[in-house]
Amino acid sequence: MAARKVEVLRELQEVDSALDQIRARAARIAEAWGNRAPLETVTRERDAAHATLRQAQAAQRDLDLQLEKLRAKVRADSEKLYSGRVRNPRELQDLQAEVEQDQRLISSLEDRTLAQMDVVEAAQHAAAAADAQYTRAEEAWRRDQLALRDEHATLKQQSAELLARRQALVQQADPAALRTYEALRRSKGGLAVARVFQHSCQGCRVTIPTSEEQRARTSTELVFCSSCGRILYAS
Ligand SMILES: [Zn+2]
Repeated sequence: MAARKVEVLRELQEVDSALDQIRARAARIAEAWGNRAPLETVTRERDAAHATLRQAQAAQRDLDLQLEKLRAKVRADSEKLYSGRVRNPRELQDLQAEVEQDQRLISSLEDRTLAQMDVVEAAQHAAAAADAQYTRAEEAWRRDQLALRDEHATLKQQSAELLARRQALVQQADPAALRTYEALRRSKGGLAVARVFQHSCQGCRVTIPTSEEQRARTSTELVFCSSCGRILYAS
């Protein structure tokens, strides 16, 4: 009994489908390789937390500077007040009032400084938390990258094995049947050989006439699905 032409093509289809899957996966790996997009959110959050911290610290320094200046002014004015250099009572009174006003201002600035210290402390905690979150995410990303590298190596190996098997099958295949197969691969989304399962073509899901299924099972020549035109394989 002559060999059925479809047998080699069925195997070739299996190999080609596996190669298609490997190529698709390899393309996704290439896309993910070195791509830091998954770290964008944690990077943004970390940068924002540090910007907030810098702002809080700058506000704190600003308050410290204001306080320092005002204390120096009060010291100078108090000295002047008790130096005996100012004799005019009106001038003394004004100076006294100014010192008192500055002291009230100092007191209010001191309250604000204390409050700002809490703000800075909270911002420090938030920045440390954002740093830790970033570090964890980056470590996970690096692990993923290593896994992708390993997977890529495995795919390359599998691909080499499949290509070798493909070459052997191509040599066994009937040349005309092979050309038909290749053309169908291109025109039918990669699937040239469709299995018949529960009386329907698995390429287009249309029910196959019994006679067609019978021929697909026994004919040495290729049998095509009357609906989608793919090569039918029935076991
Ligand atoms: Zn079909």
